[in-house]
Amino acid sequence: MGLIVQKFGGTSVADSEKIKNVARAVIKEKLSGNDVVTVVSAMGHTTDGLVKLASEITSKPSPREMDMLLSTGEQISMSLLAMAINELGYKAISLTGLQAGIKTENCHMCARILDINTQKIQKCLKDDYIVIVAGFQGVCADNEITTLGRGGSDTTAVALACALKADRCDIYSDVEGVYTADPRVVKTAKKLKEISYEEMLELARVGANVLHPRSVETAKLNKMPMRVRSSFKLDDLGTLIIGVDEMELNKPVTGLACDTSQVRIVICDIVDEPGNAAKLFNLLANENLSVDMIIQSYARHQKNTNDIAFTIAKSDIDKFNKIKDKINDILSASNIFIDEDIVKVSIVGAGMIDRPGIAATMFDTLAKENINIKMISTSEIKISCLVEKKYSNQAALALCKVFELDGANVADVKGDLPVL
Ligand code: ADP
Ligand code: ASP
Ligand code: MG
Repeated sequence: MGLIVQKFGGTSVADSEKIKNVARAVIKEKLSGNDVVTVVSAMGHTTDGLVKLASEITSKPSPREMDMLLSTGEQISMSLLAMAINELGYKAISLTGLQAGIKTENCHMCARILDINTQKIQKCLKDDYIVIVAGFQGVCADNEITTLGRGGSDTTAVALACALKADRCDIYSDVEGVYTADPRVVKTAKKLKEISYEEMLELARVGANVLHPRSVETAKLNKMPMRVRSSFKLDDLGTLIIGVDEMELNKPVTGLACDTSQVRIVICDIVDEPGNAAKLFNLLANENLSVDMIIQSYARHQKNTNDIAFTIAKSDIDKFNKIKDKINDILSASNIFIDEDIVKVSIVGAGMIDRPGIAATMFDTLAKENINIKMISTSEIKISCLVEKKYSNQAALALCKVFELDGANVADVKGDLPVL
C-alpha cells in the first residue's frame, strides 16, 4: 500500500457537482489501495472575490487581516469535500493548515513552509481516514495564520508529500497536463509526457502558471515525483515531472511561456561612475522589491551617462513609486519612466545547453513578425524577450511553430483566451 498526496485546484472544486466529482476521484485512489491525503484550493474564483471585497473596504489592508480573510476560502472547500466523501460512505476528515501542522515563516501573504509536524495526519491515516488539507495556508510563531502566495496550494501538496514521504504528488487541474505552451493561447500546443524539474521550474518562474514555482522547487529538492493531470479525465496520466538525467533531450526547446505580470522601469542618464548601480539596487532591496531582468546601456561618452532598465512585478508599483523621488535625488536621473505595456516571452529547454543558434532563431522569428525586442535576458536553459503586450499571442504562436512546440491535436481546453 502506498501513499498519494493529491491537490485539486479551484476550477476542480468550483461548485457542488464538481466537488462530488472530486470526491469520486479521491475514493478511486483510495480504492486502488493507497492512503490518500488531498489538498484543496478555494472554490472557483473565491480568492479573487475575497481580494476584491477587501479592496472595497480599504486600499491598504493589513497583510495579517488579508491572510485571515483569504485562508477562509480553502476552509469552505475542504469541509464540503469531506462531507461529499462521507456521503459516499467513506471516512474523511478536513484539517486547516494549523491542524495539519504546517509551520511557516513569520511573514504574511508570501510565507515559505519551514516544517510540517505530520503527527495528526499520520494518526488520521492510521484510523483509515482520507485526510483533506486546506491548501495555501499555514501558521507562523504564535499560531498566526499565514498564506503562501497566490497559487500556493500546489506548494502545500508537494511539501506534504515530502514530509509524509509519499510515493507521488498528483496535481489535478483543468488541463490534461503540462503543455509546450499555455493551451488557452496556443490551441495547438502539445501535451508533454514528461518534463524535467529544471525545465518545469524555469517555465513556472517565467509565467506558466500551471504550477506554483515553489512546488517544483520543493519537489526537485526532495526528488518527489509529481504528475499534473486532469480532474475531468481521471484515466489520463497527464505529465510526469522527473529528474533531468532520466530524460532524453532531443529538442533544444521544451516549452514557452508569456508573463504579463511585470512592468519595465527605465532610469535615464545615470552618471557612469562606480557605485551608482549599487545605490539604485540597494534602494530597491530596502523596499523589498524583487527585480527580474536588468539592462545597463552602453555609456554615452559625451554625456558620461547611461540608462538602467529593469523589471519588477506590477503589484510592486506602489512600493516603487514611494521611493521614486529618492532615486531621482540620489542618482540625479534625467527621467524615470514606467512602461506597463509589456509582456515577457520566454523559451525554455535543457536541450539548449551547448546548442548555438537558439537565441538567433528566437530573435529572427520575432523580427520576421516585425516585433521589436525591448529587453533580453538569458539563463543556461532559458531566453526571455520583453516585447509590447499586444504582440504576446502573435509571438507565442510564431515561436511555437519555429521550435516545433505545436502539433496537430488541438488541446481540449474550455474557456476563453486570457485577457492581456
Ligand atoms: P488550478 O486552479 O487547478 O490551480 P491554474 O489556473 O492555477 O489551475 O493552472 C491551470 C492553468 O494554467 C490552465 O488552465 C492553463 O491555462 C494555464 N497554463 C499556463 N501555461 C500552461 C502550460 N504550459 N501547460 C498547461 N497549462 C498551462
Ligand atoms: N486559492 C489560492 C489562490 O487562488 C491558492 C491556490 O489556488 O492555490 O491563489
Ligand atoms: Mg494553480
